[in-house]
Amino acid sequence: MALMITDECINCGACEPECPNNAIYEAGAEWEMDGKTFGEDDAAPSGATGFYSEDFYYIVPDKCTECVGHFDEPQCASVCPTDSCVKAE
Ligand code: SF4
Ligand code: SF4
Repeated sequence: MALMITDECINCGACEPECPNNAIYEAGAEWEMDGKTFGEDDAAPSGATGFYSEDFYYIVPDKCTECVGHFDEPQCASVCPTDSCVKAE
C-alpha cells in the first residue's frame, strides 16, 4: 500500500512538503526512518528495494500510507503537475 513516482517527474518539488509521513525525498537524497539515515544501497525494513532514485523524487514505500488517516486522497498525487505519483501495485 504505497505510491511510487514515475519517470514523468519533472523534479518540481511540490509533493515533498505535502506528505504527512515525510516519505518523499529529492533525487539522490538520503532517506530517514526511525531516526536512522539510509542511502542508495539500503533496503527498506520490509525488504523493498528499487525505490531510490538519483534522477527523480522518490517515495520510501515503508513510510507511505497512501495518506490514509490524514487525507481523503494521496496528497502527492493531488499536487503533482505531471501525474507522476501512482499506486505501486
Ligand atoms: S500518498 Fe501520502 S503518504 Fe504516500 S507518499 Fe504520497 S503524500 Fe506521502
Ligand atoms: S510533484 Fe510530481 S513532478 Fe513534482 S517532484 Fe513530485 S512527483 Fe515530481
